[in-house]
Amino acid sequence: MTDFSKNEIIDLLKDDSQNDWLFSLADKVRKENVGEEVHLRGLIEFSNICKCMCKYCGLRCENSYAERYRISPSSIISTAQKACNAGYKTIVLQSGEDKFFSQKIMSEIISEIKKFDTAVTLSIGERSFDDYKAFKDSGADRYLIRIETTDKDLYKKMHPNMSFENRVRCLKDLRTLGYEVGTGCLVGLPEQTIESLASDILFFKEINADMVGIGPFIAHPQTPLKNCKNGDFTLALKVMALTRIMLKNINIPATTAMETLNPDGRLIALQCGANVVMPNVTDLNYCEKYDIYPNKAHLDYDISHSRKVIEDKLKTIGRTIAKDYGFRK
Ligand code: SF4
Repeated sequence: MTDFSKNEIIDLLKDDSQNDWLFSLADKVRKENVGEEVHLRGLIEFSNICKCMCKYCGLRCENSYAERYRISPSSIISTAQKACNAGYKTIVLQSGEDKFFSQKIMSEIISEIKKFDTAVTLSIGERSFDDYKAFKDSGADRYLIRIETTDKDLYKKMHPNMSFENRVRCLKDLRTLGYEVGTGCLVGLPEQTIESLASDILFFKEINADMVGIGPFIAHPQTPLKNCKNGDFTLALKVMALTRIMLKNINIPATTAMETLNPDGRLIALQCGANVVMPNVTDLNYCEKYDIYPNKAHLDYDISHSRKVIEDKLKTIGRTIAKDYGFRK
């Protein structure tokens, strides 16, 4: 049995007595469908300027304490080049919703980075069909845009001035344009129910997501949710494991937020269904300022050394680094 009904998902999420079985099944499904290799994606967080007000996020425009930065296009390109020279086969370009990075500027950055023999993933938020098309034409391969929650009321509460429908429109446009599409959710948002988490997993399946990132909610002290309880590590792990079991051959990152809640979070996630790690290759001067949630885990080393550190960690659980671009199998 490797597919579950909504009720079965709910029961598994509520009942912790089945956890060992669930995690080892997810690990088995991962092994059978995507193998032992781990894909490393070099993450460049190139701007923390954002026009949105997501209530859980430290980069929301109303947070006047955030120290804002924007990396120049030429520095983004040279960072990508360094990461590719260090062996990365995917560059992930991530930012807040920053209007400076127009269709033209982003397209130029993408085409330059594509010259380094790498896949390019974008994670820059909601844009028009036209923008998505221009980025694809410039060579972008993948796009990450989390739905965050499929509970429409909760979505509305968490995202002032945004709409659930537009989020889904983005996912559909990206699919139409031939991107590999990544989405995901936050686990542990205030007022979130187990039932809605089960719907999130079924939503990933329904849209046939190619990548799904699951992160526990972590309360940021400079947001309206500062007094809320953090999400639960084990519950986030269970949502991730169920996603692996239900979607089988997709790419699932062991998210940094998991490591923030548990020092071995990413290694544990890799043994419960995950097969991707996204090391931060952004210049160290900026890393701490990309403060979506507090105490974000990162390595204080240069690109090549941190890659070696990750490789050694992966060896301890019998896993190796993939040498290909890491598209969905
Ligand atoms: S979650 Fe993304 S879109 Fe929302 S405020 Fe943070 S950076 Fe902006």
